[in-house]
Amino acid sequence: MGSRLTILGAGESGVGAALLAQRQGLEVWVSDSGIITPKYQKLLDRNNIEYEQGTHSMDKILNADEIVKSPGIPDQLELIQTILDTGIPIISELEFASRYTEAMLITITGTNGKSTTTLLIHHLLKESGIDVGLAGNIGDSLAKQVMEGASSQYVIEVSSFQLDGMYNFKSDIAVLLNITPDHLDRYDFQLQRYIDSKFRIIQNMTSTDHFIFFKDDPIIEREIEKRDIKALLHPISLTKAVENGAFCNGDWMVFSLENPSLETTVRVEDVPLKGKHNIINAMASIMVSLIEVQDKSTLPASLIKFKNAAHRMEFVDSINQVEFINDSKATNVDAVYYALDSIDQPIVWIAGGIDKGNDYNVLKTLVMEKVKILICIGVENTKLKEAFEGVAKSILEVDNMEEAVIVAHSMAIKGDVVLLSPACASFDLFKNYEDRGDQFKKSIKTLKVKLNMTHKSLVL
Ligand code: ADP
Repeated sequence: MGSRLTILGAGESGVGAALLAQRQGLEVWVSDSGIITPKYQKLLDRNNIEYEQGTHSMDKILNADEIVKSPGIPDQLELIQTILDTGIPIISELEFASRYTEAMLITITGTNGKSTTTLLIHHLLKESGIDVGLAGNIGDSLAKQVMEGASSQYVIEVSSFQLDGMYNFKSDIAVLLNITPDHLDRYDFQLQRYIDSKFRIIQNMTSTDHFIFFKDDPIIEREIEKRDIKALLHPISLTKAVENGAFCNGDWMVFSLENPSLETTVRVEDVPLKGKHNIINAMASIMVSLIEVQDKSTLPASLIKFKNAAHRMEFVDSINQVEFINDSKATNVDAVYYALDSIDQPIVWIAGGIDKGNDYNVLKTLVMEKVKILICIGVENTKLKEAFEGVAKSILEVDNMEEAVIVAHSMAIKGDVVLLSPACASFDLFKNYEDRGDQFKKSIKTLKVKLNMTHKSLVL
């Protein structure tokens, strides 16, 4: 660790790291190849932190003892390869921030469910009266919060890209929800490299730390057998009874802890989120709460009050008894699997976008059973159409979200569900998954107004 720090990427994590570094008396230089948003420029200006934007000046970047890299910058870039060749260590903002805090660190990773579970753990702990911060991919960066000395505990959503830059970081409690192929373009298309990245979540943990993991995930189970893990293991299962962990037994979630000894149950119906995947997320979250607070009395009441972030199996509205659900955050096949599985009514499914190397085979049985119409919303839909030809009862293509909603509504009948769960990235037609979900919601609103107006004029 030296005294000169370069920060690559001036987003939430980069600017947070810059502020903390400056507070710690390090010499900081921030470089962003794009345009830095006004909010972050102001923060850098106000704190007299030097930066550049729209370019990367190699000589300045390399004049550092250490480099903090934004998780959005892939290792494949020539810039990163050049840095790696020089031997200057590259770390992530979470690694950097963790050096300057004694707070308890609760981390959550997995291919899917990170945000939901992070928010739920944060909610449950807050409801128990704990002073706890929310960090990682959500909200303010950990570095900024550490600088402000905000909390005695942090619940942190950790992506594999952040994990790649973590070396000495140690979680007190770590949660691993699932591992399915995703982001493989960043891992030379080698699944094992992505798996190894996810397992960095438990590095440095000791026998007094806790590792909560979803045991039914075949990759996780296999890796756990292979590895020498020091932390206390707490399995979560939807199907098998487990000890020192949690499992689902019909209408109940059953929890047990060995030390201190504690057993309790919570009703599945108290989870205010749809789908089996959310039972997994809830069990993992409740385990964290039990480990920390050991107070089960407030759990059901707190759980019921939880409201998830938008775009994750979000109920939007109902028109003529057709429900519209926004699951725009489902950018891979596994998330869509749980979405389709959680709906009992016939489904008009809106999917498509930029395919990330999807294998649609796992969805075929569910699609055959439940999907009456697949509406493809992507610039290029060939792969999606070919995968579900003869599987979905009918397949259509549309050019934009408004059209998708109008077509979905015109083809749905009373009791159907229109589900936006794309299985793909959004960048071909939308700014991001939020924009895609927002356009879905807006189109539903517009349609409803139009239908009401037509109805009124017919009555008049
Ligand atoms: P992440 O932060 O990992 O992207 P989110 O909580 O934002 O996770 O959810 C992303 C998508 O994955 C949503 O479509 C959601 O319904 C789905 N999902 C949530 N939890 C799980 C889970 N445990 N397993 C599979 N899919 C999940």
